[in-house]
Amino acid sequence: MQNKFKLIGIIGEISPPSPTSAFQNFKRQGCVDTYTQSIEKVNAIPIIIPFVKEYNSDTIVSYISKIDGLLIPGGMDIEPSLYGEKRKEECQKSNKENDQFSIDLIKEALFQKKPILGICKGCQLLNVALNGTLFQDQKYDLRESKEYNHSDLNKIDTPSHKIIINKDSKLNKIFNKQVLSVNSLHHQSINQVGNSLNLSALSLDGLVEAIEHENPNYFCIGVQWHPETLFTKDDSMKPLFEAFVNSI
Ligand code: MN
Repeated sequence: MQNKFKLIGIIGEISPPSPTSAFQNFKRQGCVDTYTQSIEKVNAIPIIIPFVKEYNSDTIVSYISKIDGLLIPGGMDIEPSLYGEKRKEECQKSNKENDQFSIDLIKEALFQKKPILGICKGCQLLNVALNGTLFQDQKYDLRESKEYNHSDLNKIDTPSHKIIINKDSKLNKIFNKQVLSVNSLHHQSINQVGNSLNLSALSLDGLVEAIEHENPNYFCIGVQWHPETLFTKDDSMKPLFEAFVNSI
């Protein structure tokens, strides 16, 4: 299939009205437009899948059947009960219904073997959808002493730390390098890696920075950084989006 016909579904979320909107009683549906731009830049077609309150398995099957790939964007913290934990004090605001909707879409995309790219929270949601767990705050991840601030909001579109990519990973094939400079805007991080997933990159201070499906022929990758905002500045992350779209 030519890229121009490939439809990439981006999971939407509800957000408050803009302060100048006349429709102050109504929320908005959508995503940050760096996600749609990134898909446009690799010549595919982005389509936002709105969060719907009333849905069933037919709704989910229908959405996933109509798209060629699923992009799971970043967002707020994930509801801890979805990975079997009680909420800790450091866990920030979450939206259980939106998270459950996302997980149902991910499970169906996995079932239909549709390519998946999870970004930041999207990477964590992919992990939770496959029964993995999270650290509700990165301070609980004590694998290494913490060298970096993994939530550097002043560096949204520039790298703030390095990661080491596993030599045998799909990610290594995509970037053709083992050390990559990435931005870092996450406050939660992956604890136990989910079923059928491999760990594919760690930060130098030991946080999980990427996961991927163990099936080498299936593009299903989650990255903890934000390649789509780096892609607004240069082409260092273009190979990831290209590989995603080209896998269709
Ligand atoms: Mn990080």
